Amino acid sequence: MRLVFLGAPGVGKGTQATRLAQERGVPHIATGDMLRSAVARATQGGIAAKSHIDAGRLVPDSVVIGIVLERLSEPDAAAGYILDGFPRTVVQADALAEMLGQRGATIDRVVYFSLDEEALVERIAGRRVCPACQAVYHMTHYPSRRAGFCDCGAALAQRKDDAPETVKVRLAAYRSETMPLIQYYETRGLLSHVEARGGIDEIAGRVKQAAGLCP
Ligand code: AMP
Repeated sequence: MRLVFLGAPGVGKGTQATRLAQERGVPHIATGDMLRSAVARATQGGIAAKSHIDAGRLVPDSVVIGIVLERLSEPDAAAGYILDGFPRTVVQADALAEMLGQRGATIDRVVYFSLDEEALVERIAGRRVCPACQAVYHMTHYPSRRAGFCDCGAALAQRKDDAPETVKVRLAAYRSETMPLIQYYETRGLLSHVEARGGIDEIAGRVKQAAGLCP
């Protein structure tokens, strides 16, 4: 099972990818998480990525492609994975197709999550993350048991790039660089559309349908 989850920041693809990956026993490969971890560890890639992430811009293709191709070569990715937040540009999509082609493999499905911009902004504004265990909550739609604290006990924080001014830049980058991938994958017959409005369980049902995982 090789799936790509495509959609704007805040659309909820990370939440859905976490659930489905757990259920199916495949890795959830989220480039945003990998880049934040590289920044925290001050690796070469992390140092190159930091200023772009902080400003809400996309990290250069060469940096992201290197990190992802390395990750996809790890043994746990042999049986499949869910890619969340990659590819985000046509150059990245071509690099992924080339790598898979060399291995005689393909993407099974690209699940495209759509939501109006007002709802995206509301979801991002309410997002809180746990710096200790990386759990992600929403203050209204998916609250932790105790306000302000993760269920693991650590104090929750807001992602720096979830600040309103930075979100505007991220949404603009999504429109100009990532939205062309909708057409890219549609042309290749790989795209399935999921309306990302509603509750987490409701959307999870639509995702399985779109990914061809329903009996
Ligand atoms: P995310 O957690 O998916 O919202 O990603 C956070 C930030 O990481 C983005 O705003 C970008 O700066 C960077 N990023 C994540 N994935 C990619 C990607 N595939 N290409 C370029 N930049 C990325």
